[in-house]
Amino acid sequence: MSDQAISALREQIATLGESLFDRGLTMGSSGNISVRLADGGWLMTPTNACLGRLDPARISRLDECGQLIDGDKPTKEHFLHTAMYQERPQSGAIVHLHSTHSVAVSCLPGIDHCDCIPPLTAYYVMRVGRLPLVPYHVPGDPALGDAVRGLAGRHSAVLLANHGPVVAGKSLEAAVYATEELEETAKLFLMLQGKNPRTLTPEQVAELEARFPRD
Ligand SMILES: [Zn+2]
Repeated sequence: MSDQAISALREQIATLGESLFDRGLTMGSSGNISVRLADGGWLMTPTNACLGRLDPARISRLDECGQLIDGDKPTKEHFLHTAMYQERPQSGAIVHLHSTHSVAVSCLPGIDHCDCIPPLTAYYVMRVGRLPLVPYHVPGDPALGDAVRGLAGRHSAVLLANHGPVVAGKSLEAAVYATEELEETAKLFLMLQGKNPRTLTPEQVAELEARFPRD
């Protein structure tokens, strides 16, 4: 992969990170973004970095074994990303945020742990699909990676209980769009609590999945 192509990806991570931060989808130094490189390695946002102020040159570059070869040390949550990539060879990028509404849904009693948010809109079905809940683990616990790995083959997005979503996409742009769609749908779901909303029917969901397959 050319240095020029890698530099362009570094710039894209910083631009989209700033956009997510500026719109309040992530705060402080929480949240992390990664992109798979054609040579088998990854770019990953560094540990303790604010997504709103990333220096493209300091974004971590890892080789195919996960060893740091350039930039700052990667996020402490790197294992969430590698667990997801291992099960999803078709995914080119992953976004993990502690976005408020998605985290709120992950704390609700009585949600379906196999599918945390009902199919409220077509775009949610097209970009996110079924969203399983991963049981709570202490941040950094490798068992959390194992739990994500167990679901990632069948799901492009998972919701970590009392923590936040991990969302994969074919490209970085696709992963960011899916994360945004998830956060907005989580907001709708919270607005509709107690209102018995009309959701899409199983037939409507099946039609969307047939017409617009996710990666
Ligand atoms: Zn996290």
